[in-house]
Amino acid sequence: MRWGMTIDLGRCTGCYGCVLACKQEHSTPTGIHFRRMMFEEVGQYPTARRRHAPVQCNHCAEPPCVPVCPTKATYQRQDGLVLVDADVCIGCGYCMTACPYEHRHFVEDKLAHFDSGLTPHEQAGGEAGHDWDARRDTVVKCTFCEHRLARAEGTGLKPGVDREATPACVITCPADAMTFGDLSDPDSEISRLIAERQGFGLLPEAGTRPSIYYLPDR
Ligand code: SF4
Ligand code: SF4
Ligand code: SF4
Repeated sequence: MRWGMTIDLGRCTGCYGCVLACKQEHSTPTGIHFRRMMFEEVGQYPTARRRHAPVQCNHCAEPPCVPVCPTKATYQRQDGLVLVDADVCIGCGYCMTACPYEHRHFVEDKLAHFDSGLTPHEQAGGEAGHDWDARRDTVVKCTFCEHRLARAEGTGLKPGVDREATPACVITCPADAMTFGDLSDPDSEISRLIAERQGFGLLPEAGTRPSIYYLPDR
């Protein structure tokens, strides 16, 4: 079992729906987005255009952020998720330096967006129920919505199939640009898409073997 995701660049419209869905689900502090949008200028005038791609932690199979962590707060699960144990993280930032994608974020002291204090949504830590107060001075990143995947345990729900057990960014996409599934199963929908569409990960030269695959625009 190795969870992964495809993002179809031919379907993604750059609407930011997934960016906002992630923000809503996790209520990350001001300035922290687990999912972001990257832009690139391609071509030359008068046919130059701008293309975009949503990005997040790649839950790499060979994650350089794991071995550099002096407290083992960053770890890799059997199902491929790379997570951070906030109780053990000392905020040294080694993992932030090691991540070639810059997908790790330091939680500053200021948690409230408004000077008047935390909103009810901020207090709740989003749908995921994060205790952001306890995460001050630690490093955080995309969790692959592990709290949603956990709903599959003992319920028969299937991540990637049933909305309740699928990452928030995936189920929110109005263009149906993303597929979530098991990369280790050659018969899964995600494996079929990667093979048929020649899916690729970012920065292959880094040797990280990302679990996020982009499907080229056709
Ligand atoms: Fe692209 Fe879908 Fe995200 Fe919109 S919600 S930016 S279409 S991946
Ligand atoms: Fe670690 Fe960065 Fe890979 Fe995520 S994208 S697993 S933070 S190296
Ligand atoms: Fe955010 Fe979850 Fe999507 Fe990661 S998998 S970008 S935490 S919504």
